[in-house]
Amino acid sequence: MLLIGSHVSFNPEQLLSSVKEAISYNANTFMFYTGAPTNTIRKEINPELLKQAQELMNKNGIDISNVICHAPYIINLANNKDPDKWQFSINFLRQEIERCQELGIKTIVLHPGSAVAISKEEGIKNIINALDKILPFSQGVTIALETMAGKGSECGSNIQEITQIINGVSDNQYLGVCLDTCHLNDAGYDMSKFDEFLNEFKKYISVDKIKCVHINDSKNVQSSHKDRHANIGFGTIGFDNILKIVHHPTLIKIPKILETPYIGENDEDKNRIYPPYKFEINMLKNQQFDADILNKIREYYK
Ligand SMILES: [Zn+2]
Repeated sequence: MLLIGSHVSFNPEQLLSSVKEAISYNANTFMFYTGAPTNTIRKEINPELLKQAQELMNKNGIDISNVICHAPYIINLANNKDPDKWQFSINFLRQEIERCQELGIKTIVLHPGSAVAISKEEGIKNIINALDKILPFSQGVTIALETMAGKGSECGSNIQEITQIINGVSDNQYLGVCLDTCHLNDAGYDMSKFDEFLNEFKKYISVDKIKCVHINDSKNVQSSHKDRHANIGFGTIGFDNILKIVHHPTLIKIPKILETPYIGENDEDKNRIYPPYKFEINMLKNQQFDADILNKIREYYK
């Protein structure tokens, strides 16, 4: 069975809100941030809401081991120019992992980090050092390093850099990978030849390490190093190539998560934006592209 869902909100009822939103999209998995991705304000996990979320998942056939948490962007393990900030990132990621353990989440996706003022090589060394301080406490929760577009000084924008990190840590049992189709395209991989990519990947990293796949089309051409997600079938990767990845036999048991843009984001009235996920999930299940889908989404939520 296709495991597909999208990014959903953790507000206002924590995981219960996430589950309700996922169900409204006919999803059987989902991904959430445990708070705003850009700040460190976190509420205590409410056990009653968690219980209700678990019951609702059971009732709807959502297996929590397929649910993904995304670490906030403010965590940067690559740059240690300011040692306090670096240490803060390490502490905060450990705290987020503890929240995952509390919630019963098995996978947390992490952007490896940006080197900023130092070399990428040093950045990767810092990531490895930081992970060595975190992984011993991650018992049961796998950190999935996301493949990045290579914007600015982002580390982890190719298979080799991800490999360096995975092989560099003392114990990589709880370290995995999250592929992102938009990022891979922007980093220079041809998503119309996904088998070639996978074969290259397998030379360095076991496919068992793939814990999640972010399914996004790209607003930019291959190798652009931009990282701007497009709706499925409306970007440079295209519907057919994405469809092949979504239904790829090697990835059958891996959760696929949409992070495509809301419809109407570029409209004048920013209060009226609509999630595309119910429709995009349906399209990927039916394996049929609908060129009129963006209008249908607006109609549906109007
Ligand atoms: Zn991400």
